[in-house]
Amino acid sequence: MHEPMNPERIPGSCLCGRVQFSFSLPFVRFNYCHCESCRKTTGSAFAANILIPTAQFCWETEESLVSRFTDTVVNLGFRRWFCSHCGGSVPRLNRTDEYMVVPAGLLDSPISVRPERNIYWCERADWLVTVDAVPKYVEGLDSRTSDETL
Ligand SMILES: [Zn+2]
Ligand SMILES: [Zn+2]
Repeated sequence: MHEPMNPERIPGSCLCGRVQFSFSLPFVRFNYCHCESCRKTTGSAFAANILIPTAQFCWETEESLVSRFTDTVVNLGFRRWFCSHCGGSVPRLNRTDEYMVVPAGLLDSPISVRPERNIYWCERADWLVTVDAVPKYVEGLDSRTSDETL
């Protein structure tokens, strides 16, 4: 794959904005992960994770703001890194220290790449349905519905 001389940096940040980071493409993997650990760490149906080689990632703010948790009981070695101020997820090293696992919901600019696959499908939430299976509102419940499908 051709890599540009100055690959564009993609910015991201935590919920409160104190932790900021950036990375460059190409990614190694872009997965929806349905494993129980990812459901617990996101509080949602699944995690949308972009795996980036560590050399393509950098923190833009003081790394001391990042708190680190490593699971030693349920899913040994699973890591959750989070902002010390807001508690929101931030990128973390994967358990083999090869990649940064970037939660795609943290990105602050559009990206051209899309998820490639669902993993740990056997652990998916029993209430999971496709987004197209339920009505869409443009904003909150008081807003108009949207027939947009993409
Ligand atoms: Zn924060
Ligand atoms: Zn997972």
